[in-house]
Amino acid sequence: MQEVSKLNHIKSLKCKKCGREYLPIKTYVCEECFGPLEVAYNYNSIELNRKSFQNRPNTVWRYFELLPVQDKTKIVDLGAGYTILHKCNRLAKALGLKKLYAKDDSVNPTYSFKDRPATVAASKALEFHAKAFGAASTGNLAAAVAAHAAKAGLSCYVFIPADIEPNKIVQASAYGAKIVAIKGTYDDANRLAAQAAETYDWAFANINIRPYYVEGSKTLAFEVCEQLGWKTPDHVVVPIGSGALLCAIQRGFNQFKKLNLIEDTKIRVSGAQPSGCAPVVNAFKNKSNDVTPIEYPDTIAKSLAVGDPGSGLDAVETIRQSGGIAETATDTEILDAIKLLAKTEGIFTEPAGGVTVAVLKKLVESGEISPDEKVVCYVTGNGLKATEAILHHIPEPVEIEPNLGSFAKTFNLEVKKWQK
Ligand SMILES: *Cc1c(COP(=O)(O)O)cnc(C)c1O
Ligand SMILES: [Zn+2]
Repeated sequence: MQEVSKLNHIKSLKCKKCGREYLPIKTYVCEECFGPLEVAYNYNSIELNRKSFQNRPNTVWRYFELLPVQDKTKIVDLGAGYTILHKCNRLAKALGLKKLYAKDDSVNPTYSFKDRPATVAASKALEFHAKAFGAASTGNLAAAVAAHAAKAGLSCYVFIPADIEPNKIVQASAYGAKIVAIKGTYDDANRLAAQAAETYDWAFANINIRPYYVEGSKTLAFEVCEQLGWKTPDHVVVPIGSGALLCAIQRGFNQFKKLNLIEDTKIRVSGAQPSGCAPVVNAFKNKSNDVTPIEYPDTIAKSLAVGDPGSGLDAVETIRQSGGIAETATDTEILDAIKLLAKTEGIFTEPAGGVTVAVLKKLVESGEISPDEKVVCYVTGNGLKATEAILHHIPEPVEIEPNLGSFAKTFNLEVKKWQK
């Protein structure tokens, strides 16, 4: 390895399989063993304590030293991060838990957690002087990448399966991205996006700058520690698509421990997938070290419909090592969970969040999560992005005449004498 001395907090890109180190350039697989690359930091050069964060912006960039951007002037910031950690007393009671929190990432700038990795990836695309930025997406990354490309003035291409939620397409398109709708699955879109990024030498967030991209999601662990007063949860429940989010959350907790910002406690990391696309849960339950791809995902949780998850095996190992569980939810359970979260806590999530809450409910019912555990459930996307999923599973409004009599009759209220 040469020339890394000119770098500061980023040491290298390191192969997760064989450990070979590379210069931190626009690359993502090991030339030696084809393993995935991961950002390695120079911990000696990172000086952080709890007070360091006191006067910093309420965005993911408050953790600058732990994100892989070297030139602060290249940061593309729409304000992603530092979302509310809700204490969920009513949902906790409904589920039989004592201490439950929801990290509400449905209120990020483009209404999903994908703004976290997208802000890092867009900044990196600028650092690399990329001519165009883009991604393969199940929907939310398309909007996140498109918005950050707009802010950065970068040309943008997003590759999506043609059958995702119309709102997600409209949103990405409004930001000015070129939408490439593929007649096929996410895996087809991903393959084509990889070919395009390579052919034209572009920077695609979750493809050739993936090692940097995934780092943005660690902030979901950092913030939870800060928001719990520098304490850690006992158990976190995380939705899984490619598995990158779940692994990043685990890495975030580990980094905070390494820097002595939190105590060395055990955090169980559990994963949630829809039963119509659950390759990671299948591998976990079968105690297998292979993640068998699902060829044709079939679920209302379209943002989790990743048949061949890029970080699938990593996610299985992370769950196992942490003492967590992987579990699925059916479409009906997902819809019920969306409504439960909305009605108990006032948080309206898209089906991915429904998967997480449904799995949380199952794990409490089966005793896998004990009532005494302090649990954080990650709500990753906004319900307004996928209204068609729930439209026919909620009551239709009743139309009435514009008078009090009609109102009282419709809602079975007492008719007052003066009300004629
Ligand atoms: C992408 C996405 C996920 C899953 O993240 P991965 O890193 O692909 O595992 C979860 N929830 C929502 C809303 C998403 O858009
Ligand atoms: Zn390797």
